[in-house]
Amino acid sequence: MSFTVAIVGRPNVGKSTFFNRLLQQRKAIVDDVSGVTRDRQYGVTDWNGKYFNVIDTGGFVADSDDVFEKEIAKQVVIAIDEADAVIFMTDAATGVTDLDTSMANMLRKIKKPVFMAVNKVDNNNRMLEASEFYTFGFENVFFISSMTGSGSGELLDAITELIPQETEPEENELPKIAIIGQPNVGKSSLLNALTNQERTIVSDIAGTTRDTIHTHYKLFQKEFILIDTAGIRKKNKEKDDLEFYSVIRAIKAMDEADVCMLLIDAEKGITAQDINIYSLAARKGKGLVVLVNKWDLIENKETNTSRDYEKDLKKRLAPFNDVPVIFISALEKTRIFKGIETALQVYENKQKKIPTSRLNEVMLKAIEAYQAPVVRGNTVKIKFVTQLPTHVPSFAFFTNYPDDIKMPYKNYLENQLRTKFDFTGVPVRIFFRKK
Ligand code: GDP
Ligand code: GDP
Repeated sequence: MSFTVAIVGRPNVGKSTFFNRLLQQRKAIVDDVSGVTRDRQYGVTDWNGKYFNVIDTGGFVADSDDVFEKEIAKQVVIAIDEADAVIFMTDAATGVTDLDTSMANMLRKIKKPVFMAVNKVDNNNRMLEASEFYTFGFENVFFISSMTGSGSGELLDAITELIPQETEPEENELPKIAIIGQPNVGKSSLLNALTNQERTIVSDIAGTTRDTIHTHYKLFQKEFILIDTAGIRKKNKEKDDLEFYSVIRAIKAMDEADVCMLLIDAEKGITAQDINIYSLAARKGKGLVVLVNKWDLIENKETNTSRDYEKDLKKRLAPFNDVPVIFISALEKTRIFKGIETALQVYENKQKKIPTSRLNEVMLKAIEAYQAPVVRGNTVKIKFVTQLPTHVPSFAFFTNYPDDIKMPYKNYLENQLRTKFDFTGVPVRIFFRKK
């Protein structure tokens, strides 16, 4: 399930302040765009137990109203193209401006829910001034202060009401595998290579959003859904927007998938943006496989070349780097089925449910062998482990001092789970609970 909210508004109304408050310590993906536009940011947040993507459409540093108008139009287009709901932010401290008015005029025409957020309502006096924004005629108006956080709860309540409750997937649902990566890494080529050979597409299923294409495949006696965004190019998009759109698409494809195949370009190596996408997928609990494409372009390969490449790559992916790395060439069709096979294996790992008795047998032994450090004179005992019935493999360790177990020991437990039960490619979650 993918739900995306875009924050639009003229410069300095407080969009990024609000965005940062929403994301708190979570890391955002920042798209550094040069020229008149400043960073656009993407991230994922949750409210009332519902997760949604947030796009801060960015501000712009420009000195003429003409440029402002143009940029504002661009933000609205992004919002219309990519969002399920829009937060239209204005500033009570400055009151209604011409730019607010022209933006309101554009937003009134769109068919998506618009939440007007009058920001900087830090105190009651401001409230009075803020009410002039009612004249825009939007149904949903909220008075907020991004600085103090007041009012934002009501706004988020209203937004999350639009997001359907996550339904448990049916037992026999097919694995969903997304092909993601930056422009020109070879997503279309991979897709073509996969479909030309041994093509056994059962049917084309329309994507749940128009930004992804779902294809039903049967390969190796296995059925799965391939989700791709290759070939989707928006008309009339300026060049600097290409990467921006590709990131949003990747996030959407990721949201709909169980496992993501992240393509990177062998020659270019992994980029900061690739790592951002990778960590976002891990935070969302998605299975991951890294496909190093265009391996044919690497010359003078020796026995150690791929091993060393993988080692370097994993260093950059840390902390979560228990992930398969496959070297492929979409062009020469080498190891592409190995890529699919591996993604399906990761899917199996993600579905894994370890019986409680087996889990305790193995893990209590590992805990015995290396005990949690004594904290403030407390001997930390872990007596029982169980896997929780969640989509992302999650484990609860019951202990007398849940707060006294620190990162290094948590990492030890995670490593033990990984080595003993094989969760390659799958983020796992560990919780400590009071026994
Ligand atoms: P953006 O250009 O729309 O992203 O705006 P920013 O988030 O960069 O904020 C512009 C300025 O407004 C900054 O100086 C913020 O500190 C300030 N600001 C943001 N939210 C509030 C608020 O709720 N109250 C007050 N008083 N100032 C705010
Ligand atoms: P997309 O934007 O991610 O869909 O990338 P494309 O599939 O359009 O590929 C971009 C360019 O990379 C094209 O010129 C492809 O021919 C080339 N390419 C894709 N895969 C390979 C590969 O495995 N080896 C080589 N040498 N070139 C490739």
